[in-house]
Amino acid sequence: MKVPFQDLQAHHAPMREEILLAINEVIDSGDFSGGGFVEKFENDFGGYCGARHAIGVGSGTDALWLTLTALGVGPGDEVITVPMTFIATAESISMTGAKPVFIDVDEKTYTMNPSALEAAINSRTKAIVPVHLFGQPAEMDEILGIAREYGIPVIEDASQAHGAEYKGRKAGTLADAGCFSFYPGKNLGAMGEGGAVVTNHEPLAEKLRTRRNHGQSGKNNHTVVGWNSRMDGIQAAVLSVKLRYLDSGNKKRRSHAVTYNKGFELCEEIAIPVESEDSVHVYHVYAIRIRERVRMIEDLANQGIGCGIHYPVPVHLQKAYTGLGHKKGDFPVSERCADQFVSLPVFPELSVRQIDSVIRTVMQCSRSLSIV
Ligand SMILES: *Cc1c(COP(=O)(O)O)cnc(C)c1O
Repeated sequence: MKVPFQDLQAHHAPMREEILLAINEVIDSGDFSGGGFVEKFENDFGGYCGARHAIGVGSGTDALWLTLTALGVGPGDEVITVPMTFIATAESISMTGAKPVFIDVDEKTYTMNPSALEAAINSRTKAIVPVHLFGQPAEMDEILGIAREYGIPVIEDASQAHGAEYKGRKAGTLADAGCFSFYPGKNLGAMGEGGAVVTNHEPLAEKLRTRRNHGQSGKNNHTVVGWNSRMDGIQAAVLSVKLRYLDSGNKKRRSHAVTYNKGFELCEEIAIPVESEDSVHVYHVYAIRIRERVRMIEDLANQGIGCGIHYPVPVHLQKAYTGLGHKKGDFPVSERCADQFVSLPVFPELSVRQIDSVIRTVMQCSRSLSIV
């Protein structure tokens, strides 16, 4: 039985009519760039997260970069983040002119290891960017505790964690600002590119609104050097519709994760994801770890089952970052994870039979591995 890694067609089928109506409204209004539909989505998404402000922008990468810039991060500064993430987290830091400083992730949660944080802080540290990898919030109390002691702002990369919770609060609202991506495959995805920043700080929100629109505060009055990262009206209108389906999608992802966990429970070769007591994980990615993954990936492919690796090369070992002078062994947990991760299909519309077929294939393969 074929199982794709992702099925956006199935995801959009039940909402298609609503989405077409929403797009028609945008066409009729002509509000294609910024405007009423963007304001509506900002209200919807800010309300959903429980944040006072949401600022729609062009992408998740822009959300991170604009937030860092608005906080005054620039050349000569350092920003602490993790190497086990999508490269955009580091890129957004580099594009401000600052240097990304990596610390390793925790072996269980795959998020920033707070015990490595203090040693990485110095007088040049201007921000800390934990990543809620795969949809599980980082250990924010520990991270914020240290950050507050040094007066350093914390920006959450919540691009994989729409609707995730930490101690009863939504990801994105746990620190000074939260950055989201609405790339189509994310738990809340646009039909194109999009991103948003949520924050409770009015001055930061104002700076972001100015900077995403050419530094403009009032027509033809450019008070700072900004950029064009306006959200577009069609994406905003689509996202307002899709936001209403986010919780039910996340619930299904969580239920698929429980089914997978049960299926793999007795298999010693497989490490299943660990959900911390403090968090509600939304499984943007369901990743297992296995020492010999080459055979497993082959077997899955032979059965027509899509899988992925998030991410096969940690950012500090990417060619783009050779300039930072890192070498293999610098962040052993991230490197081990990069060698062992296999992401299995976990999109909401998966059927019970599809999940069973994935479990059966993975278990057959791991049994044969353990016999060898
Ligand atoms: C997707 C993603 C981004 C970037 O978002 P874009 O909208 O593609 O620019 C940043 N960080 C993480 C962790 C992501 O998964």
